[in-house]
Amino acid sequence: MTTRFLTVCILFMAFSVCSAAFGQSAAKQAGRITHNVVLVTVDGLRWQEVFGGSEEALLDKDAGGVKDLDATRNRFHRETAEERRQTLMPFFWNVIAKEGVVFGNPEHDSKAVVTNGLNFSYPGYSEILCGYADSSIDSNAKKDNKNVTVLEWVQSKPGFEKSVAAFCSWDVFPFIINETRSRIPVNAGWEPLGTDSSLGLMGTPAGERLLKLDEVSREFPRYFPEVRYDYVTFRAAEEYVQARKPRLLYLSLGETDDWAHAGRYDLYLDAASRTDDYIRRLWETLQSMPEYKGRTTLILTTDHGRGDNRVDWKSHGEKIEGSEFIWMAVMGPDAAPQLITDSTVTQSQIAATVAASLGLDYNSEVPKAASPLPVVK
Ligand SMILES: [Zn+2]
Repeated sequence: MTTRFLTVCILFMAFSVCSAAFGQSAAKQAGRITHNVVLVTVDGLRWQEVFGGSEEALLDKDAGGVKDLDATRNRFHRETAEERRQTLMPFFWNVIAKEGVVFGNPEHDSKAVVTNGLNFSYPGYSEILCGYADSSIDSNAKKDNKNVTVLEWVQSKPGFEKSVAAFCSWDVFPFIINETRSRIPVNAGWEPLGTDSSLGLMGTPAGERLLKLDEVSREFPRYFPEVRYDYVTFRAAEEYVQARKPRLLYLSLGETDDWAHAGRYDLYLDAASRTDDYIRRLWETLQSMPEYKGRTTLILTTDHGRGDNRVDWKSHGEKIEGSEFIWMAVMGPDAAPQLITDSTVTQSQIAATVAASLGLDYNSEVPKAASPLPVVK
């Protein structure tokens, strides 16, 4: 046996082992199409409105703080729950619910629950993004999250470097995502966009449009000092997606929660309705781009529920009954449309679902995280 022949043999054997290993991982991923994930959260949007549309008991001046009752009723009130929810969130019900999977509809005994026990924002977002509840997170204070989010984890994987970004209405997100440590671009709150160097858009046409968006944003009254209007957050995400084409985008919208706290059911419904339309517009933009078309999974949820009566609908938390109940939805080429019945899923399952959609096994490296949602085809 010559040395050359031996070398050829060794190379051949190595190739066989490699291709067997590759074959295995390819088989594990067989048929998976998703290349990109867009995660959207809608702060404090109740399952009651998602599944039932506007609630009659809150369409008044007393409990709902509704200014123009006729206009609000005309816009959102319909006879049946199905008509009401379709009127409030047409994209969610005509597209997402038909082509994807929806969790949390009590009519089908489908429950989606928060597991952190606190039912407010920072603990909820950390649970969503990390995949487990952390009892040391017990306030909304602007403290850097010591836990690593799935966004940061995904960004560390080959093929995802500089391919993760977050656009958030609430200004606590740079801390929840730990922007300093993770180095993920997180543009949040009233932070300017056009001069945010972490986005890498300065001097580009998209950067110029973001400067214009900042000009408009500066003219708005800062009614919620910590939460910018969702339109700005959405538009920024849309510009970023088209210019930088991230493989994992997190869009975090916030107005629904703030209008509810303000006791304005009319503006809460208005925000829910606009949010649905922003998601539609973002989805249509994605479907118009070859990088995203047919290979993007959309994952939607909320950080907490709210109370279930004429007073408590405004609020949420440990002491507000029912505010642990939420909703979730997944739509994409690898999610089989199905009606979910008689089961319970948890907020902590979102992180592993984000990773699994991208072909990554989060649970093997983060065993305390909950498993992915059962949506795979
Ligand atoms: Zn809140």
